[in-house]
Amino acid sequence: MTQETTQPEVNIGLVGHVDHGKTTLVQALSGSWTDQHSEEMKRGISIRLGYADATFRQCPGVEEPDCYTVEEECEDGTPSERLRTVSFVDAPGHETLMATMLAGASLMDGAVLVISATEDVPQSQTEEHLMALDIIGIENIVIAQNKVDLVDRDRAVDNYEQIQEFVEGTVAEDAPIVPISAQQEVNMDLLIGAIEETIPTPERTEGEDARMYVARSFDINRPGTTWENLSGGVIGGSLVDGEFENGDDIQLRPGREVDEEGQTEWRSIETSIRSLQAGSENVDSVTPGGLIGVGTGLDPSFAKGDALGGQVAGTPGSLPPTREAFEMDVELLDRVVGENDEVEEISTGEPLMLTVGTATTVGAVTSARSGECEVKLKRPVCAPAGAKIAINRRVGARWRLIGVGTLTE
Ligand code: GDP
Ligand code: MG
Repeated sequence: MTQETTQPEVNIGLVGHVDHGKTTLVQALSGSWTDQHSEEMKRGISIRLGYADATFRQCPGVEEPDCYTVEEECEDGTPSERLRTVSFVDAPGHETLMATMLAGASLMDGAVLVISATEDVPQSQTEEHLMALDIIGIENIVIAQNKVDLVDRDRAVDNYEQIQEFVEGTVAEDAPIVPISAQQEVNMDLLIGAIEETIPTPERTEGEDARMYVARSFDINRPGTTWENLSGGVIGGSLVDGEFENGDDIQLRPGREVDEEGQTEWRSIETSIRSLQAGSENVDSVTPGGLIGVGTGLDPSFAKGDALGGQVAGTPGSLPPTREAFEMDVELLDRVVGENDEVEEISTGEPLMLTVGTATTVGAVTSARSGECEVKLKRPVCAPAGAKIAINRRVGARWRLIGVGTLTE
């Protein structure tokens, strides 16, 4: 078997209600299980964003959609041809983890919305996740009607019609709906065909400043490592623009909080790239697509336990400003997703949970008018004017998505 070194070129989110089959589908397409975290295994849900890469292939001379496969060998024994490698971002469906899904959505170029044929449509996170795609502006969507092996034909048709009705008037209105069984691997070829058609690799302009959204960060040293052998902090996430090369200088924003004579201030961090990983391989350079790991010269304690998650890394001097407060234009949803209550206007003094890029922060509203508000953040964010912000309000015991903001200044 020849080893292909292929960095994925597009990030595809897997979204939808808990237990509808997202992780099973990623496994069917990539052969790897995204629920790797031991606690995730225990709880049986994806508590962190899981990435898994899959290479889509085609059997020459075979008609569509039968030609599509992830196998290296076609049914007649001839080798298949590689189309492209994609990276799936498996978002958690558990409702308290909406913030993680929204943060993940900023890394997605398109999404597969998984809907189980065994339940009425929509279930609460089906609706909430579709709304999130709409807010973040993800328009390239394929709907996988999953678990068709568990229902009879009438039920499947009924469910299909419910899906059509549900997506009417939404960003997924024109999305193809593909009946599949992720577990029995039925119609995987049709689904790959629909993804190839609907979620193209975004065009990237060369020579742009590099920009990476950091989703996670780690200290990879074992306890007791002596300082000469210490590795610097590692950041993980996706490059959304430009290119990183080994040895490049990078800047991180917001950086870290520095305490000077009782005054605290956020200062960006400058460091350099010591190693690069794409997939699970060490590489010399990376371009957008897939999960990347960047070994830096940073003090590993800065990176421990996802401490740098939500930051932006990139070409020094090119990053958007760090903001401890900002103004945004606000568009509220008609009603709280998953509930029947109307969304009330935002009021001065109320706390909101805001997701900006991969950063999630709580902000207190310092001034609110209809269609606009100002917030002061607990933790600053690095974001340009025009950035989209998912706005969540505490409703009962949990945060609920209530609208979208556009950062004005
Ligand atoms: P997630 O929460 O959306 O990631 O859902 P999982 O992938 O963890 O699947 C939830 C459960 O549904 C698991 O027990 C799967 O084995 C099962 N499942 C997923 N897809 C199918 C399918 O196509 N058919 C059947 N019969 N079961 C499925
Ligand atoms: Mg899952």
